[in-house]
Amino acid sequence: MNDNTSPPTDERGGLPSASSFQRLVFCPGSRAAEAAIPHGTIPASDLADAGTRIHDALKTGEIEDLAHNEEQIASKLKEMEEAALAEFCDDFSLEIADMEIIREERFWIAGVTSARVDFAAVHKRLPMALLLDSKTGFLKVTGARENWQLRVGICALNETFGPFETARVAIAQYRLKERFSKCDYDATYLKRAKTEILFYDARSKEEDAPFAAGPWCQYCRAKPTCPTMATYALLPSVFAKTIELKKKDIIARVDTLSLPDLAFIQSRKTFAENLFEAVTKRLKSLPIEELESVGLTLVPTGTIPSIPSIADLWRVLDDAGLISDEEFRGVCKVGLGALYDLLVTRIAGKRECSKSEAEQYLDGLLAPVVKRTPKEPSLKPIKS
Ligand code: SF4
Repeated sequence: MNDNTSPPTDERGGLPSASSFQRLVFCPGSRAAEAAIPHGTIPASDLADAGTRIHDALKTGEIEDLAHNEEQIASKLKEMEEAALAEFCDDFSLEIADMEIIREERFWIAGVTSARVDFAAVHKRLPMALLLDSKTGFLKVTGARENWQLRVGICALNETFGPFETARVAIAQYRLKERFSKCDYDATYLKRAKTEILFYDARSKEEDAPFAAGPWCQYCRAKPTCPTMATYALLPSVFAKTIELKKKDIIARVDTLSLPDLAFIQSRKTFAENLFEAVTKRLKSLPIEELESVGLTLVPTGTIPSIPSIADLWRVLDDAGLISDEEFRGVCKVGLGALYDLLVTRIAGKRECSKSEAEQYLDGLLAPVVKRTPKEPSLKPIKS
């Protein structure tokens, strides 16, 4: 099922698709939000285009137009598809020749949703079926047991060819590495799955259907203007790699927030600062190996100088003949910074050297009486 991309005309008849059903379950409000945005307003990505080409090739068997890596993905998925069918027939003592093969066809739960099936094998006489979804992207997909796209797919297939006594759903994913997951449904589980689909469908049609953001926002058409998503994406505590935001994206998200939201976020500034402070403190307390395992390291940031004994300082300066007793007392009252600046200027004049050379000389002179306390190291990402 490759319906994350938006075709020019809506082949789903205005109903939510199997691939978007998980979003409807977790964010019922997304139904109305997406309905307000026409299909095709978000351009398909290169990866989605490649996925469409691979799925077309799996259907037609023509791989000539595929790029080399796409060809490799297509043949690997084909292998996985054949292995899944062989395993299914083996597990239930069926003959492959008795299976009717279906590819890239859409099936419906009337008036509710539809699923475009990548590959299915339905037994010609027995109430048994296998549904396989092929994935070509990088993102790790939800396993077969929890996967709403497959749940909708097998229920839609059950509407046309069922009622099944046994049905297997599986996901084959290949992109750099191979992933496969499967789950078997019996008649009771199929009935329960359909009831759940009808329940979530009805809930999403309610006028006050709630919004909830999460990783399922990734392919939501309402994402660019959705304030719930904007607030979620701006939460520093959300682990959402898929929606990592650059500075310009943050500005765009902030532009979508309402005035009360902006005021609320501003009112939480102290909380956010305290949160970052506590997180930084906790990270800094961890062993360096643990930090490195998450791509962070500690970088030294210099030292803080202090003079434990003013008497010792005076002795060093008096021996060097740099300042009189009276002048020393006077400048010390202003502060040690002022004393340092005065001494640097005096040394530069006396030794006819640059300011930095004078500083170097003075630092060497004062080293025995200056205590240097290391500053807290700073937390930085490891540069690759
Ligand atoms: S972007 Fe996320 S929160 Fe907003 S409507 Fe879509 S799924 Fe719901």
